[in-house]
Amino acid sequence: MKKLGFGFMRLPQNSEDVTDINYEELNRMVDTFMERGFNYFDTGYHYHAGASEEAIRKSLVERYPRESFILADKIPLYALPKQEELEPIFQEQLERCGVEYFDYYLMHNICKFSEKAFTEVDSFTFVKEKLEEGKIRHMGISYHDTAQMLDDLLTQHPEIEFVQLQINYYDWENDSVQARKCYQVCQKHDKPVIVMEPVKGGTLVNLSDEADKLMKEYDSEASIASWAIRYCASLDDVMMVLSGMTDYQQLDDNTTFMDNFKPINDTEEEIIEQVVEILKRQITVDCTKCNYCIDYCPKNINIPKLFDLYNTEMFTKPVGFSAQGQYYRTYAKQEGVGIASECIECGACKEKCPQHLNIPEYLKEVAKTFEISRYGFK
Ligand code: SF4
Ligand code: SF4
Repeated sequence: MKKLGFGFMRLPQNSEDVTDINYEELNRMVDTFMERGFNYFDTGYHYHAGASEEAIRKSLVERYPRESFILADKIPLYALPKQEELEPIFQEQLERCGVEYFDYYLMHNICKFSEKAFTEVDSFTFVKEKLEEGKIRHMGISYHDTAQMLDDLLTQHPEIEFVQLQINYYDWENDSVQARKCYQVCQKHDKPVIVMEPVKGGTLVNLSDEADKLMKEYDSEASIASWAIRYCASLDDVMMVLSGMTDYQQLDDNTTFMDNFKPINDTEEEIIEQVVEILKRQITVDCTKCNYCIDYCPKNINIPKLFDLYNTEMFTKPVGFSAQGQYYRTYAKQEGVGIASECIECGACKEKCPQHLNIPEYLKEVAKTFEISRYGFK
């Protein structure tokens, strides 16, 4: 298998509505992906509010023979489903995707918060039964917690065949994400790794001029994204790197450099280390835009969107200048959305965040940066 997977998490849309998928663009992307010899697709129950699984059916399953592609889906353990809900969710997933089986099936977002979903609910047995029934071909987990917890889990559950981890060059040594340590735990247990968030939700594509220059001086032809994806694919025990491609241009670029894949060399590794140092000085909030938090906010604050604006604002010197301020105003004018200062610090979002971000505290900074009051922005 070529080491690039198509993540159906950030699909092209026709409008702000996350279920309004641009099928003309998506079908073209899927066709080129397949033509170039890539065939791994990854979706999830809640991606695009359920429309991602449907998009798998419409753009892939209904247009290509089942045996020509590999399909991964995930049971949403972070939503803490009850035992009796597991089977209906699984059946709904098969139906939405229009398939009889999944090649890879993951227990989604295993972390301290979702622990009840596999301690109090017997979800491991449920997934093993699906394996025995032939409804899934391989069982695995997507994981967001410490290396120690992963070590314990893989010891207790040797039936886990593979692990999906957040790995990228910025998070490799990050204390919260523990990418290197988690990867090494997988090596210890002899489990292949699938990489998610190789470009950290787009952060490693939109680098500052200083970081950009370092990479462009070395190779003016290579895209900035290619460094991040090749970095992950260069790890020996990585079997797949998922890229959540949003338009044709990204797909064209990713499939081109991954078709002629060259591992990162020593000089490139040194450049990446320098870029990480630059980034550490610049990234303010380590949000990956996974969206796990937003459905739980009683004030309907679009947390990842506001963090994205805030991070960009911090990159943009002098702090305070404001294309982002304009975006913030536009956001705030929408019906039914909450702005940063409306956070009531209930903490519901914090429990869901795989990056363990102190979201209410960061939102105070966002409010300070963009708001004077509910009605008067700077
Ligand atoms: S802490 Fe704030 S942002 Fe988080 S869920 Fe509660 S109100 Fe929303
Ligand atoms: S704040 Fe956390 S949970 Fe919310 S989108 Fe960002 S990384 Fe994901």
